[in-house]
Amino acid sequence: MRVDLHTHTNASDGALTPQALCERALAHDVELLAITDHDTCAGWREAEALARRPRLIAAAEFSCQWRNAAIHVVGLGFDPDHETSVAAFAQLQQSRVERAGIIGERLARLGFPDTCEDATALAGASQVGRPHFAQILVQRGVVASPTEAFDRYLGAGKPGDVKALWPDLAEVTAWIGRAGGVAVLAHPLKYKLTATRLKLLVAEFKAAGGGALEVITGRPQPGVIAPLVRLCQTFALEASVGSDFHQPGQFWAEVGEVAPLPTGCQPVWERWLN
Ligand code: AMP
Ligand code: FE
Ligand code: FE
Ligand code: ZN
Repeated sequence: MRVDLHTHTNASDGALTPQALCERALAHDVELLAITDHDTCAGWREAEALARRPRLIAAAEFSCQWRNAAIHVVGLGFDPDHETSVAAFAQLQQSRVERAGIIGERLARLGFPDTCEDATALAGASQVGRPHFAQILVQRGVVASPTEAFDRYLGAGKPGDVKALWPDLAEVTAWIGRAGGVAVLAHPLKYKLTATRLKLLVAEFKAAGGGALEVITGRPQPGVIAPLVRLCQTFALEASVGSDFHQPGQFWAEVGEVAPLPTGCQPVWERWLN
């Protein structure tokens, strides 16, 4: 069964509408899909109403922080209408708006005024994020590409890297649990932690009620999967897979293009099959 439990639409920083994403997923034979927009389930909500779509799991990718690192937790199968979910998304959206203001001030000090206004306008009804700032810097000719914008202004340790506003990891896992879902630690290798620190993160994630690790993100390099499988086994965590698809042509994976889960893992999606 073809499964993709990590995808984005234009409800956050993806390029496709929820409908276009669902059509693309069907074209790639995806049978079970989670739309995991940053800090919102608006993409899922729109897709859920479509007549033609893969089977969907209600989902979102929550921004949070753990010991000063910005971490992403995918929530799967929670009730989006639960009062906890409604309050959580309201809080995260407010944090995004406040953060955009701070990023704008910091960029203004570097000589680029009014980027918050432009990024917010560009985002429109979507959740505003650093990718929108990156696009504005490209449009203004400050940088040649979004990657250069992250490298110079928005990425880890740069002025636009504002994460103090995100809730703690344990708060996010509690929200997801209270609303009946499973918390999945997204792309565990993307945080560039040492093996010791990653193990500590996974231990604390599990202690905080985390349920699964994203063992496969797109098409991983050979050799990186086995240590994640061992972490699942050590901490009795289930395993998830996802492309982290944002737009057609992205280099790391197409919708539904995820390497198979190795044996020895318990697939988290079996919870929703019967
Ligand atoms: P935010 O949620 O606003 O902090 O933005 C994070 C998003 O920015 C990630 O989910 C990616 O989609 C994108 N992103 C992060 N780092 C980079 C990078 N180096 N180049 C391009 N996009 C990036
Ligand atoms: Fe993103
Ligand atoms: Fe992410
Ligand atoms: Zn993502």
